[in-house]
Amino acid sequence: MKCLNCGNPINNNLTIREIFLFKEIIPNYMCNLCRQELAPLVGRNNCPRCMKPESEGICSDCRLWEQKFGIINCHQALFEYNRFIHSYFKLYKRYGDVLLARLFYQDIKNWSLKNHFDVVTYIPASPGHLQARGFDPVYELYTDIFELQQLLVKADADKPQAQKNRLERLETPQTFSALPTIEQIPKNQHILILDDIYTTGRTLMHAHDIFLSAGFKNISTFSLSR
Ligand SMILES: [Zn+2]
Ligand SMILES: [Zn+2]
Repeated sequence: MKCLNCGNPINNNLTIREIFLFKEIIPNYMCNLCRQELAPLVGRNNCPRCMKPESEGICSDCRLWEQKFGIINCHQALFEYNRFIHSYFKLYKRYGDVLLARLFYQDIKNWSLKNHFDVVTYIPASPGHLQARGFDPVYELYTDIFELQQLLVKADADKPQAQKNRLERLETPQTFSALPTIEQIPKNQHILILDDIYTTGRTLMHAHDIFLSAGFKNISTFSLSR
């Protein structure tokens, strides 16, 4: 198999354990050279609510969300946003290479096997973005791994998030609304909301707020990068 990012061959040598225990073999689409460019977040003195690395306790963003919305953030992410992640999302989202959706398959799949939720939903692309890109990047990133339900719709914004500075991002008003199917879900269900990148947390906080307002209590969020 070849690395989806750079085309180098990938050696997927099975361990004795995998062969004899008939463990599910999770495909890997990334070579070791590319993998070395990643900065995993696990075990780095993270904010306990959002996994911001090296934050020594609850970070200021998470405190803000609690004050402003009464939201106790419950977020997990896998990799720090760095140069590799930046160029990955540029190729995947800006240049629209949908095949790259599977580059992190193994990492996300492993996380999904250790964390259990009743309902898994995602941050959908706005209609304008969907039309311009031809695919929904968050949906494609996770659809092979989770049984995704679309429960939110996103209105087209005046300016894309990527073109906003930090303050503008924090000030962005609510752009999500709930689909009627949300009403059919029992309120005691544990909800997971997926996004691709977590920057200020604004987008996921808005999505979180929709579920909170709809009466759900157990809400978690996840992003590939933070
Ligand atoms: Zn590679
Ligand atoms: Zn935090």
